Amino acid sequence: AIFARIEKTDEKIGSFVSLRKEKALEEAKKLDEKIKAGEKLGALAGVPVAIKDNMVSYGDPATSASKILNNYIGVYDATVVTKLKEADAIIIGKTNMDEFAMGSTTKTSYHEKTTKNPWDLDRVPGGSSGGAATSIAAQQCFISLGSDTGGSIRQPASFCGVVGLKPTYGRVSRYGLMAFASSLDQIGPFAKNVKDAALAMNVLAGADEYDATAEDIKVPNYLDALTGDIKGMKIGVPKEYFIDGIRPEVREVVDKALEEFKELGAEIVEISLPHTKYAVPTYYVLAPAEASSNLARFDGVRYGYRAEDIKNIEDLYVKSRSEGFGEEVKRRIMIGTYVLSAGFFDAYFKKAQKVRRLIKNDFDEAFKNVDVIFTPVSPSTAFRLDDKKTPIELYLEDIFTISANLAGIPGLSIPGGYANGLPVGIQLLGKPFKEEDILRAGDAFE
Ligand code: GLN
Repeated sequence: AIFARIEKTDEKIGSFVSLRKEKALEEAKKLDEKIKAGEKLGALAGVPVAIKDNMVSYGDPATSASKILNNYIGVYDATVVTKLKEADAIIIGKTNMDEFAMGSTTKTSYHEKTTKNPWDLDRVPGGSSGGAATSIAAQQCFISLGSDTGGSIRQPASFCGVVGLKPTYGRVSRYGLMAFASSLDQIGPFAKNVKDAALAMNVLAGADEYDATAEDIKVPNYLDALTGDIKGMKIGVPKEYFIDGIRPEVREVVDKALEEFKELGAEIVEISLPHTKYAVPTYYVLAPAEASSNLARFDGVRYGYRAEDIKNIEDLYVKSRSEGFGEEVKRRIMIGTYVLSAGFFDAYFKKAQKVRRLIKNDFDEAFKNVDVIFTPVSPSTAFRLDDKKTPIELYLEDIFTISANLAGIPGLSIPGGYANGLPVGIQLLGKPFKEEDILRAGDAFE
């Protein structure tokens, strides 16, 4: 039924860049036998799951939506894939994204298809995990995985009217996720509602011997956290997030949502995160710096695209990378190598690292007095596909999501309401490794 649904809708929506129909049906058949044999089933038995194209799975294409990986086939399973398989989920295919997860529209994908917002086909789904968000919004599957380095799960969730969770840095293994900015990247689920996201987290979270940053901290049963009761919960509202840049129609939805939290019995506390204004410039120094280093491995030698008519090794690198990477990726590599270069390292990279700590300190301070923090996800609703925003204009739109990655804290995006017929998300930020708090608040709000 899921594949029939995809065949019917994906021409218009463009969520998927590859499908594993045969394999998925084979796996479903095996699961059927398991059921008939009365064997114990996993927590996601038979649930169709889609995966962002920057995660590898054995024998399946994984391109990160880049020409430089257009012929790449995974040679192992990412830990999240292993965990999904162990939970008896059925992986149905890979979803479209911005090239190497750099962007907020899914328009920088190398793949020919354009991923469109199911609510208005003239608009972007958001990004970079655009296809993962649309696969849920267009009812093509029930859980999908995205990655979030600066908002790439939460912003498309907001634009597409679905739930998206960026877990704490270290809550979910990144093994098998193609690195963009390793100190910021986190894998997380998209789902129709908070309960499904919590169920997915029960499967995805936990330590991993293949990722030293995946922390060995007890994983709670996230479903148990969904009590529906948030009476007395302290919700912080940072004044720096309620700025003029928010479109009035978004502001209206967000204000109303906050009222609803009050009615549910939460205590609303005004707080301050004074370094918020430095988050965007800090991120756009650190993320490109890490990216420039991570993307050095794509050299035309080991895997992926290799240019033709090569004279020598240097020519091989230069031509393969020049032809293989898209414009936005090249822009980030240039920014990254610039801020890391000997003459500018202290002025940019080192300074940004220090500001990152100040941003983290702001949250530590705020969380002494509140349980969760409430903010908008994005200053606007989904942009028009033909909207020609400059890179800087696009970067500024990340203002509300980026701090969570810099601080390493979890962030949940849930539908808050509608503005002119388009979904508007609200964001709940939590203490490190306290996903259960924001899931409980989000579930009570739903
Ligand atoms: N929009 C941000 C960027 O372009 C975030 C991307 C992400 O989270 N992967 O870098």
